[in-house]
Amino acid sequence: DVQIRRGVDMKELYDLQSELGRGKFGTVYRCRERATGLQLAAKVVATPRREDRRNVEREVDVMRQLRHPRLIQLYDAFDNGKVMCVVLELIEGGELFERVIDDDFILTEKSCTVFMRQICEGIEFVHKQNILHLDLKPENILCLTKTGNRIKIIDFGLARKFDPTKKLQVLFGTPEFVAPEVVNFDQIGFGTDMWSVGVICYVLLSGLSPFMGETDIETMANVTIAKYDFDDEVFNEISTEAKDFIQKLLIKEKEGRLTATQCLGHEWLKSQATVALDKTRLKRYVIKKRWIKAVYTIIALRRMGAKLEWDDTNAL
Ligand code: ATP
Repeated sequence: DVQIRRGVDMKELYDLQSELGRGKFGTVYRCRERATGLQLAAKVVATPRREDRRNVEREVDVMRQLRHPRLIQLYDAFDNGKVMCVVLELIEGGELFERVIDDDFILTEKSCTVFMRQICEGIEFVHKQNILHLDLKPENILCLTKTGNRIKIIDFGLARKFDPTKKLQVLFGTPEFVAPEVVNFDQIGFGTDMWSVGVICYVLLSGLSPFMGETDIETMANVTIAKYDFDDEVFNEISTEAKDFIQKLLIKEKEGRLTATQCLGHEWLKSQATVALDKTRLKRYVIKKRWIKAVYTIIALRRMGAKLEWDDTNAL
């Protein structure tokens, strides 16, 4: 069982290598355990405020309860006062959507169901542990390898333990993927994650984002009234079972949505449809996201000053 280690120099035990990715809270590096040679990933988060430390502690605490093949596994954790470092299993296949838009990959309804089934299996386990992920989005679904079809759910940074007898409201997540109850600051629940599963499925099949507006405010307005449709011509080639799966998740009232277990029993997940879907829109969607991310990275680096970033890893 992983305990956060304090007063231990993580650099004596691990070599930090190249950067793998960057999120709002931390930077993820490839790393190697000196004793075993094991390749791992290290998420480094600066914790200048008590609140930052509490967030990482919560993430580690949640991950300790989540031992499952569809979920990123915790390996080790450190806290030296200035910086916290969470050592994770390394996932080398990159983001699911990047993989899917590759010209070598033929996207069919059948292949979509392979991914959606694994997402539902992972979430079913999370929910069985009474935990909510609360940040399900395509960026947080990674492929295990560059060529296989296995995926893992990552980033439990916003995850919460859920006590159905207590009121839990949150104000975070990504407008495109968050449920109406999050936008409305109402009580959340297991259904809150299932909404995001529905949005991910819609985008994966069509390359269109069901609630996306010109601005975040517009997107949130669309979400609150659960306004979406299958009117675009891309949906002509999508089966009624697939639409039914999505429709049973994108329901305004969270109680009405399918649970992860119910999703796993849905007819669509047995789909054998091997007609190649048109990936033009999905490619456009992924490329646009890459651009937005690059711009935000530049803005963030300018704001902090690149030196500070470098100091964070050096402070380890
Ligand atoms: P967010 O802004 O999405 O909340 P975050 O700061 O919590 O991000 P993560 O989402 O955990 O950070 O990681 C940021 C990025 O690093 C991911 O999008 C992914 O590309 C990469 N990454 C994270 N964990 C791993 C891992 N175990 N193996 C490989 N790459 C990873």
